[in-house]
Amino acid sequence: MARHFYVEIEGVRILLTPDWELLENPVEVIPGYHTRRPNLRDAMEVAFPGLEFDFAVPQSWLDSDEKINDRFYKEGAVWAYPDKGLRGGQPLWGSEILKAYLDKIRAHPDVHNLDCAKAYVRGSGRTCPFCGHDQIEGESVETGGGSATQGMYCLKCGAYWIDAYRLVGFVKDNTAYFAK
Ligand SMILES: [Zn+2]
Repeated sequence: MARHFYVEIEGVRILLTPDWELLENPVEVIPGYHTRRPNLRDAMEVAFPGLEFDFAVPQSWLDSDEKINDRFYKEGAVWAYPDKGLRGGQPLWGSEILKAYLDKIRAHPDVHNLDCAKAYVRGSGRTCPFCGHDQIEGESVETGGGSATQGMYCLKCGAYWIDAYRLVGFVKDNTAYFAK
């Protein structure tokens, strides 16, 4: 199993790893996988490609409310212009940018597939990995070469997939011997 991998979104290469201790400011993307918390510039590029924005926010906006000022210094914000030439604009908070950034990564097929495979294995394959329904049926099991496969159907959404099993040990005289 890959210990870490990269996904590329909007030309930005993003590392995902289970070794969050190695990351500076880690943030969890999906259970068990972390990435480095991006700076606002990198996050904007991935989360809102093509959106016109400014790192400077109007002082009058910061001065308008003490809470806004506090929040700005805690999480940051950019000033976004939804349309070119539009004066005024609106704030895009750091937390919103980070959430949109993480959602983009989660939607990447490699990450999405990893996540649904994890959930499927964690649930011992009792529900459809695509729609979550428990009305699933298996075909006969085929074994060989230290692995086993079983074709599976979901009666609800019609998905077909193959469960993959791996040889982990054996049982003799009611004692289980598992390879580490
Ligand atoms: Zn299904």
